[in-house]
Amino acid sequence: MQTLTEDKAPPPPELFSSATGSERTVVRVGAVEIGAGQPVVIAGPCSVESYEQVLATAEAVKFAGAAILRGGAYKPRTSPYDFQGLEEEGLKLLAKAKRATGLGIITEVMSDRDVDLVADYADVLQIGARNMQNFALLKTLGKCNRPVLLKRGMSSTIKELLMSAEYVVAHGNPNVILCERGIRTFETVTRNTCDIAAVAALNELTHLPVILDPSHATGKRSLVPALARAGVAIGADGLIVEVHPAPEKAVSDGAQSLDIPQFHQMMRSLAPYIDLWKESRLTETAAAV
Ligand code: PEP
Ligand code: MN
Repeated sequence: MQTLTEDKAPPPPELFSSATGSERTVVRVGAVEIGAGQPVVIAGPCSVESYEQVLATAEAVKFAGAAILRGGAYKPRTSPYDFQGLEEEGLKLLAKAKRATGLGIITEVMSDRDVDLVADYADVLQIGARNMQNFALLKTLGKCNRPVLLKRGMSSTIKELLMSAEYVVAHGNPNVILCERGIRTFETVTRNTCDIAAVAALNELTHLPVILDPSHATGKRSLVPALARAGVAIGADGLIVEVHPAPEKAVSDGAQSLDIPQFHQMMRSLAPYIDLWKESRLTETAAAV
């Protein structure tokens, strides 16, 4: 007979959880591995504006050491009067830049209706901060055969981010990358407040790869390289950084976009941190066996 005091077995851990005992998830994007032996830099413009812009950025960031190209074709903008993105035309420009450079591409999908179309062009589907809890979209992504980059909502807790990842994994797609991109606080000097501890906390709580977006986290290009170094130092599996050949002319997020020489400089300044990162991951792997 069931009594009120009867012990119940604890529920199994969520699929994202380190408590499953699962090895670190490695997300493969062509030949690039996220969550494996080195941090991966994803770079490109906030918005895809033209072929010249996206190609110039792709060639430059590749030369500087970026492994994946970012660029928004569907843009979630606060004002409906702001540039909304080139939509499918933007996806075509990204695909052309991929053919020209060999870089894999990551781009945002805003609606479950667009998942199949965006997946036809993109290697990784980005879910923006504003859509982190769009559960219909998350369930659709579970059925899609592309990796997902899930950004933390600007007012979401770490646990809520993980539960959103759980939706995608539980619906059939294990390839989820988490992204800390800053949260909203009372601070106004920076656009958002970078919760740098979230990177370390997530690395404890989940086997999924965790990356940092120092561009949206600060909103200021002068602060991006310092935060990028901090991200690598604290163990992020990668960075996603906004870069534009002429940030003063960018249609979105120009103030936080690095120009090409600044991106090169950032990549140079990251090199010793990347070496330390590799060493510590090797030590961790050795300790685990
Ligand atoms: C972006 O990556 O350009 C973007 C809109 O990011 P977020 O969803 O983090 O604001
Ligand atoms: Mn942006």
